[in-house]
Amino acid sequence: MKRMMHSMGLALMAVIPSFIAVSVALAHEPTAHVHGRATLEVAVEGGSVQISLDSPLDSLLGFEHAPRNEKERQSVREMSRKLHQSDRVFVFTPQSQCRLDSVLLESSVIEPGLLAADSDSNARKDHDKRPVNSVDTHSELSVTWHFQCAVPESLQEIKVQLFQQFPALKRIDAAVVGPKGQSRARLSPKSNQLKW
Ligand SMILES: [Zn+2]
Repeated sequence: MKRMMHSMGLALMAVIPSFIAVSVALAHEPTAHVHGRATLEVAVEGGSVQISLDSPLDSLLGFEHAPRNEKERQSVREMSRKLHQSDRVFVFTPQSQCRLDSVLLESSVIEPGLLAADSDSNARKDHDKRPVNSVDTHSELSVTWHFQCAVPESLQEIKVQLFQQFPALKRIDAAVVGPKGQSRARLSPKSNQLKW
């Protein structure tokens, strides 16, 4: 009996860490930097929906360094504008009445002023040349959107239209944590719907 308890204990100890590891992996999976591929994490909790995108800058912008001239700054503003217009990027089940709360764009190579909602005026104000990482290496953009849904129980799918906005993007590995548990999906331009 004692021996049985012991082996049960061992079995439990073996199961629990892998369960924790799975949840942690879902929340913070390190992104492999592959051009054309991005990861998306969707967390639905009650009426609030958080969507996080991690993408190589190349797939959204065509380059991965700090913008060096006005043309490149304009490309950053354009990318930023598209991502702030969340209704062109995500289409929720209409009955769920989800509305955008906030958007945050972050990149280690681009000054925050260029990534803000009103990037034109911010860029003019933001003349403190921040020491951003200007070394020519690979770099990424992280975007976090927050939505509030008036009828969350109606929310059953999100159409991800990032592919139309950013044609260099070919694949999105998505993870959903929602009322029906956790699920994963591989999205592509031809299959861009997340359902649960
Ligand atoms: Zn890269």
